[in-house]
Amino acid sequence: MFCVECGQEGETYDGLCSKCFLAKGRFVSLPAILDINLCGECFAVQIGNKWVDSVSIEEAVRLALGNALQKDRQVAETSLKFDLTENDPRNYKAEVVIDFRVRDLLASERFSVGIRLKKETCKRCGRRAGHYYESIIQIRGPRPKSGRDVLESARALALSRISEMGAKNRNIFISKFEEQHGGYDIYLSSSSAGKSIAKELAKEFGALTKSSASVAGMKDGASLKRMTYLVRLPEYAVGDILVIGGDPHLLRSVSEKQLVLFDLVHWHDTSISPGRLSDFELLRADKHVKDALVVSENEAELQLMDPETMDTVDVMRPAGYSHQGNTVRVVKTNIGLLLLP
Ligand SMILES: [Zn+2]
Ligand SMILES: [Zn+2]
Repeated sequence: MFCVECGQEGETYDGLCSKCFLAKGRFVSLPAILDINLCGECFAVQIGNKWVDSVSIEEAVRLALGNALQKDRQVAETSLKFDLTENDPRNYKAEVVIDFRVRDLLASERFSVGIRLKKETCKRCGRRAGHYYESIIQIRGPRPKSGRDVLESARALALSRISEMGAKNRNIFISKFEEQHGGYDIYLSSSSAGKSIAKELAKEFGALTKSSASVAGMKDGASLKRMTYLVRLPEYAVGDILVIGGDPHLLRSVSEKQLVLFDLVHWHDTSISPGRLSDFELLRADKHVKDALVVSENEAELQLMDPETMDTVDVMRPAGYSHQGNTVRVVKTNIGLLLLP
């Protein structure tokens, strides 16, 4: 075979020798001038429709060149190298070398691209400046006299989740944070983030949640629905004793849907949904659960030293009860000292 262009003999590509084939084709191209939008607030760079966070000028130019590079279908394995010179803080020159492969040929093209940096405002900063929000998480604590700092734990959990989400998706941010009577209001840029945080708080603390929607204008041509997620934190926590209908129960776990309890009188597991628990007396673990010294024991009973009065008391041994060491965990209730599993 010989080249129809220059007559050279050897392998041909569409009738051309490799040299003529590569010289004739426009396999890769870059624009002579490339505008790069940078956010004046957060210095994110716009690549196509996306805003990318915290990149150097070098990196921004690399991403923008990669995005602007046009390739013929036959091109594979491109690599992009460039030298950047600054004309002034807004204008740079990039001397670019693109190495690539077409069929079994390796080739290289050089481009000189003028880079212009433009100041813009990214979508997030624009929304942030406008106090944009799609949801409100209202965290409300238990009655103040319960003395629980569960409200602070819930707030900390919510904030750390939001910052994790924001690190993955830059459009998730807090647009407003307000301390309210009995809790906090967190205004969030995303309603799905609000929903998942409310759900997590419900699961973690056994909180009751309620959601409500309101229509607030338009967003991208569709009506913008704003969600409010009310998260009501309970007074109880895992390890506390709930006296329900006169029977003390140990709270073993909490979730959105159920509280797993252990009936300390009848010595078995039971459960209840948080919404159905209305009337109960709370014996907090940190005040009421104590270690008691085992004075003696047999198959039917344990003789314990009451940790408060130091009196010796007999406690029935529940079926299957065993313990290690010479102390056991007990709770003092108005029906006497009860063993904890
Ligand atoms: Zn040729
Ligand atoms: Zn920005």
